[in-house]
Amino acid sequence: MRLDVVPYGNPALRRQSENIKEINEEIITLIDDMAETMSLYQGVGLAAPQVGRSKMLFLINWDLIEHEKSGTQAIINPRILNAGEETEKQDEGCLSLPDVWAPVRRPSVIRVEYMDVDGNLITEELRGMPSRVFQHEYDHLLGILFIDRISTHERKNVKDILRSIMDGEITTSDEIEEIAQSESEIRSD
Ligand SMILES: [Zn+2]
Repeated sequence: MRLDVVPYGNPALRRQSENIKEINEEIITLIDDMAETMSLYQGVGLAAPQVGRSKMLFLINWDLIEHEKSGTQAIINPRILNAGEETEKQDEGCLSLPDVWAPVRRPSVIRVEYMDVDGNLITEELRGMPSRVFQHEYDHLLGILFIDRISTHERKNVKDILRSIMDGEITTSDEIEEIAQSESEIRSD
């Protein structure tokens, strides 16, 4: 089932998420629904708070990231164990903040721990895009948005778009319609 992605301004995006105690049917259904939603949006990642659920859970679509992994992976109860001193600045966007793009500085290398959907505890080191996506999605679980990490100057640049999202002039489903339209254009070619 496709879920609604909550937009910037919705309090769900500012809540601290709770640990998942048991990977039960409710969690599996949530993961399935989030996967369907993420794929419709062609998103690189989607965190539970973005669909209004305050759970320590996010998905990463490895197919859209240059990486040795593939498919959609559920990341449960993640933690960032440590981060390297070196940082990188790169543009980020977010399904909850349509049309907003801004450069965010983040640690290049992180060491993370999480549970997979089968309950296995996994520890790994991430760098590059996988590291950035993991940090962006992990922030969502703490109620942090990428625009909280941009410079005051960049914030000024996106101020009007943020206002339009809060006023409902730009919605999170605009993107799905655009994707559907470009796909039908491709088909009709
Ligand atoms: Zn996001």
